[in-house]
Amino acid sequence: MKFNTKTIHGGQITEKGYNAVMPPIYQTSTYAQKSPGDHKGFEYSRTHNPTRTALESSLASIENGKFGLAFGSGLAAIDAVLKLLKPGDEIISTNDLYGGSYRLFTKIFEDYGLVFHFTEMENLSSVENLINNKTKLIWVETPTNPMMNIIDINRLSLIAKKFNILLGVDNTFATPFLQQPLSLGADIVMHSATKYLAGHSDVVLGALIVNNEQLSEKLYFIQNASGAICGPMDSFLTLRGIKTLHVRMKRHCENAEKIAKYLSSHAEIENVYWPGFKSHANHNIAVQQMNDFGAMISFTTKGNNFKKSIKIIESLKIFTLAESLGGVESLAGHPASMTHASIPKEEREKAGVVDSLIRLSVGIEDIDDLIGDLNQAIS
Ligand SMILES: *Cc1c(COP(=O)(O)O)cnc(C)c1O
Repeated sequence: MKFNTKTIHGGQITEKGYNAVMPPIYQTSTYAQKSPGDHKGFEYSRTHNPTRTALESSLASIENGKFGLAFGSGLAAIDAVLKLLKPGDEIISTNDLYGGSYRLFTKIFEDYGLVFHFTEMENLSSVENLINNKTKLIWVETPTNPMMNIIDINRLSLIAKKFNILLGVDNTFATPFLQQPLSLGADIVMHSATKYLAGHSDVVLGALIVNNEQLSEKLYFIQNASGAICGPMDSFLTLRGIKTLHVRMKRHCENAEKIAKYLSSHAEIENVYWPGFKSHANHNIAVQQMNDFGAMISFTTKGNNFKKSIKIIESLKIFTLAESLGGVESLAGHPASMTHASIPKEEREKAGVVDSLIRLSVGIEDIDDLIGDLNQAIS
C-alpha cells in the first residue's frame, strides 16, 4: 500500500457488529467476560480500547512501523519514552527543542536523576563529543522549532547505532507525509498528533511508533502502568484527521512555499527560516530526507525590531494569534513569549530565538487571502 492509501485504510479492519466503515467510538471503560479471562481481547480501557487500537494501527501504518501507541498528549508520549531510562542515564538533545519538551526534561526528569545535554546538531561532531557510556537516548526534532534547522536523521542514526543508543525523532513538524524517520534509521518516532495528524485544532493527543518488538513491549507496559492514555473520542477524531493528512499537507506545503518567497522579498523582513530555500544551511539534507519542505516558517523584522513584530502579529486578521500549529487554519505565534517562554532568554537567543521572531503555521486557506493579510499587517 502506498502512503495516501495507508492514511485511509492502513491497519484498519471492518467493524463486525454493523459493518461500520469508521471504527465506532467505544465509549466504555470495561468489557464483559464470559468466565474469568475469557474475553475478546479487551478487559479495561486503560490497557486497550478498540477505538484507540484502530488509531494505533493507523499510526504504525503511516509511519512505516510495526507498533503504534497513542497517549493523552504529545508530552505524555515523550514522558513514556523517558521512563525507559534510569537515574544517571544521559540524553543528548537539540538546543532549539519545543519548549514543553525542554520543560519536561529539565523541570521534571532532571529531578529523577536523568542528565540532559543540549547542543546544535547541524554539525554532528558536537553529538559524538557528548557521548559516553551513560548515554542512552538521542532526542531530536527536525525541522526544529522554531528555527527550522534540519538534522540528518540517517547520519545521526549511524552514530546512535555505533554506540548502541536509542534515537528518538519528534516528527510533529514534518509528519510521515514528508519524512519517515524509522525508514531513515530512527528507533522511536513521536508525534504531537494535536498538530498535523489530527489537523483541525480540536484534539490533544500524542503518539509513539516503533519497529522493535522488545522496545514496543516496554512502552506498552509504561503506557498501561503509568496510564497517560487518550480517550476513545479523541482517538476517533485523530483517526479521522489522518485520513486527509496527505491532501492537507500538499496544500499546506504549496501555501508555505509562496509565503516564504513573499516574505523573503519584502523590504521590512530580515531573515526568513524555511528549509526550501537553497540558501538555507541544511537545504541539501532537507531535499534528501523530506518529500517537501513543510508549512512552518519563522521570520524576523529588519533590525530585530520587537515592537514592529508585535504590531504585525496584532494586525493580522486571517492568521490567528495562538499557540499550537498544524491545523487547517493559519496561525501566528511569538516564540519568545509563547511556545519558548519556558526557555531562559540567554539559551533562547543562543539558538536564534530573538525577540522579533514570528512563527507562522501556514494553513490551507486561499493563498491570496493569506498573502494579503500578511501584506496589510506588515505595512
Ligand atoms: C506541541 C508539540 C509537542 C507537545 O505536544 P502536546 O500534544 O501539546 O503535548 C511536542 N513537540 C512538538 C514539536 C510540538 O509542536
